[in-house]
Amino acid sequence: MTTRFAELPAGITRIDVEYTRPGFAAAWLIREGQEAAFVETGPLPSVPILLEALSRHGLGLEAVRAVIVTHVHLDHAGAAGELMRHLPNATLYLHAQGVKHLVDPTRLVDGAKVVYGEEKFLATLGGATPVDPARIHTPTDGTTLDLAGRRLTFIETPGHSLNHFCILDHGSNGLFTGDAFGLSYREFDGGQRPLIIPATTPTQFDIEHSRLSIQRLAALRPDWLYLTHFGPLPFDPALAADLDEQLVAYRELAEQSDPPAGSATYIPALLDLTQTLGQKIGLPATTEWSILAMDLDLNAQGLAIWRERMSRRTAG
Ligand SMILES: [Zn+2]
Repeated sequence: MTTRFAELPAGITRIDVEYTRPGFAAAWLIREGQEAAFVETGPLPSVPILLEALSRHGLGLEAVRAVIVTHVHLDHAGAAGELMRHLPNATLYLHAQGVKHLVDPTRLVDGAKVVYGEEKFLATLGGATPVDPARIHTPTDGTTLDLAGRRLTFIETPGHSLNHFCILDHGSNGLFTGDAFGLSYREFDGGQRPLIIPATTPTQFDIEHSRLSIQRLAALRPDWLYLTHFGPLPFDPALAADLDEQLVAYRELAEQSDPPAGSATYIPALLDLTQTLGQKIGLPATTEWSILAMDLDLNAQGLAIWRERMSRRTAG
C-alpha cells in the first residue's frame, strides 16, 4: 500500500489524495527555495491533505505561488476553488478552455454525475466551489512558469480531453502527465515493466490526438513520469508503445461496431486487451483485474462517445 506522502528527488512530494482508494489519485507539491507549487488538486475532499503536505514541510500558505491543473476533470481540479481560498499568493494555471468550468462548475458537476452516477459522485468527488476568475492565468503551449528560478513548461496535449496540459519540470526532468500518458497502478507491478493503460474517459476523448500527444511526450525523453493515476514511474519508451498499441486496438474495436454500440458492449474486449498486455509483460496469473473495473467502464464510455462522434462526422 502506498503512504499518504512520498518524498521524491528534487523537492517533489507525491501526495495520495485518497480518492476512491489509496494509490489511485495523486497531487504533487514542488518546493523550490521559499516557494511552492501544487500540480493537480484532487477532488474537493482533498483540501486538508494538500494543506497537510505544506505544513509537514514547514511551509506557510503564503509560500504557494502556483496551483496548476492539467485539465478540468474533477479528480484533477475539483478542489481548486476551495484550495485557492486558502492560498493568498497563488495563481491558478489552467487551459483557457477549462476556465469557464471552474469559474462556474455547474456543468462539470452535472456531467460527472452522469458519468459516475449521483450516489457515487456525492460519496467521492463531492462537488466543486467556483474560482475567482481574476486569479486564473491561462498558459499556451510552451509557456514557462518560473518558480524561484525553477522552470515549469506547459505542453499542450489534447486527446484525453481538449483542455489538457502536461507540465515539464526542468528541475527533475520529469513530466506531470495528468491523464495524457495513461493510467498505471502499483498493484500491477511485478512484470517486466509497469502495466499502463490509456485513459479514454468521456466526453472529449479523441484517439488520434491522444496518440500524437503520447508521441510528443515520449520524444521529450523525460527521466520521470508523474502520472496522476498513479506515479511516479521511471520513463521507458516501451510504455509509450504499449499505450499506442492499445489505442490502435481500441480504435479497431470501435470501428468494427457499426452502427455504434453502447459502451457496456466494449468492456469485456477492453479487459481482454489489458490482460493480453499483462501476459506480454509477464504479470502473474493471480493478478486482481477487478481493480480496473471503474477505469475500463469509463474507457468504454469514452470510446463509445468517440465512435458516435466519428460516425456522425462520416454521415454529415
Ligand atoms: Zn481526466
